Amino acid sequence: MDFTLTDEQELLLSSLDELLERECPESYIADLDLHHESATSFRKALHEAGFMSLGFPEEYGGMPCDAVTLVLLAERVCRQGLNNGFGLELLQAMDILEFGSEAQKQEILGLLANGRVPFALGFTEPGAGSDNSAMTTSAVHHDGLVTFNGTNTLITAALQSKYLLVMAKNPDTDDPRKAISMYLVPMDAPGVTTNRLEKILWYTQDSCEIFLDDVTLPEEECLVGVKGNGFKQLMRNFEMERLVIAATCLGQAQCAFDDAAAYAAQRVQFGQPIGNFQLTQLKLTDMAIKLENMRNFVYKTAWMLDRGLPLKSQGALCKRYCAMSGFEVADDALQIFGGVGVTVGARVSRLWRDLRGHRFGGGTDEIMVHIAGRQIVKDHS
Ligand SMILES: Cc1cc2nc3c(=O)[nH]c(=O)nc-3n(C[C@H](O)[C@H](O)[C@H](O)COP(=O)(O)OP(=O)(O)OC[C@H]3O[C@@H](n4cnc5c(N)ncnc54)[C@H](O)[C@@H]3O)c2cc1C
Repeated sequence: MDFTLTDEQELLLSSLDELLERECPESYIADLDLHHESATSFRKALHEAGFMSLGFPEEYGGMPCDAVTLVLLAERVCRQGLNNGFGLELLQAMDILEFGSEAQKQEILGLLANGRVPFALGFTEPGAGSDNSAMTTSAVHHDGLVTFNGTNTLITAALQSKYLLVMAKNPDTDDPRKAISMYLVPMDAPGVTTNRLEKILWYTQDSCEIFLDDVTLPEEECLVGVKGNGFKQLMRNFEMERLVIAATCLGQAQCAFDDAAAYAAQRVQFGQPIGNFQLTQLKLTDMAIKLENMRNFVYKTAWMLDRGLPLKSQGALCKRYCAMSGFEVADDALQIFGGVGVTVGARVSRLWRDLRGHRFGGGTDEIMVHIAGRQIVKDHS
């Protein structure tokens, strides 16, 4: 296997390094975190430098890009200490490019070009978390219109988004597999209201409950893709989303590791750097092993995706491993910092908090077992 980066990848990473140094220093991220704001200006800078159109088809002003390169970039941005810094919005645009109408494509790409978050993705409901099929948000079609009623919860970045990409059920459909469709609902449509949820992590992304009360829109404008294919379309998103989350965890965990190793080398106790103690070295060694495994897992999964190989359980295994190991690396990093690590403003405390969130978002650790375990048994029966 060849792990050498191509010249193009080297070039992209070095120009990303320069951009991160200029537009996304630690002081900027710490300030966003403190004030619970999102990285709007950095997103805009990423777009202006052409990074946000990587992976889009050329007819929409994009540049084709393979999944390996995309995960390298996502890892690099998150290694800077930023949560969800690159890749998720690209994924969103991909959804619309694949399934949306021409008008929806133009609208979403235009928002991205202005550094905006085009939409939040809504499928979790108070009564339907891991079990998406229990969703009750309804979409009633009548006279070329659709009327929505229901509640989403824990929706990331809803307050920054112009739209909600929501999954809703047609109550008049007999076949439950064909009941769910995907819709793009403007966040300012009459009948849409939000309630911000305060949480203990991911301060640079808001989380909301979203209430849809008799929200009525023209079907032609809001339906995304094929009526009744919503669940299938959502699953396509999940596959790539899991990989981007895994790359995000890798980058953040690497950042925590680098900070902890540097701290271990300079913090003196008992007359010598704490990095001289074998207990500290054991932690650093196990952290390095986990990082190596995470990196191999992420790159190989992206490589499989690029070759059109069936991912089957691979995406779920990769997401579970990277979310859990990434958090374990950050937890050991926090331990190496001692008490100063838990003070507000210590980067390691932010990484520890943010990494914990990835064990829920995009599907929990347990649901990754639910997905991968079934597949493993099937493959062996
Ligand atoms: C930071 C963050 C960001 C999020 N962003 C979004 C978003 O943008 N859009 C969105 O729609 N949702 C989002 N979510 C919601 C997320 O997708 C759900 O939290 C997740 O799917 C789990 O659902 P739940 O919280 O209702 O837990 P539940 O499904 O109620 O699960 C509770 C516990 O039971 C376990 N469990 C459930 N079923 C099984 C099973 N079959 N076997 C074993 N264990 C099981 C779970 O793993 C969990 O530990 C986000 C959540 C977080 C924390």
